[in-house]
Amino acid sequence: MPLYEYQCEKCEETFEFLAKNSEEKPGKCPNCGSKKTRKLLSTFSASVPSGGGSSCDLGSCSTGTCSTGTCPYSS
Ligand SMILES: [Zn+2]
Repeated sequence: MPLYEYQCEKCEETFEFLAKNSEEKPGKCPNCGSKKTRKLLSTFSASVPSGGGSSCDLGSCSTGTCSTGTCPYSS
């Protein structure tokens, strides 16, 4: 069963919800009981670009050490 992460729109509590199927949703926030919840995207590597080298992770793209030239940290 997939484990989803939800956030309450009222108190901003985040909680995990184990769904039996993709259609199932949590009934309410376990913290405040609000029914206004939204599914969060996986937090795993959500903001971490793929294909970047370790030098990019250090934000050193501007120094010319990025092998791909696609460092998102450079500006
Ligand atoms: Zn809540």
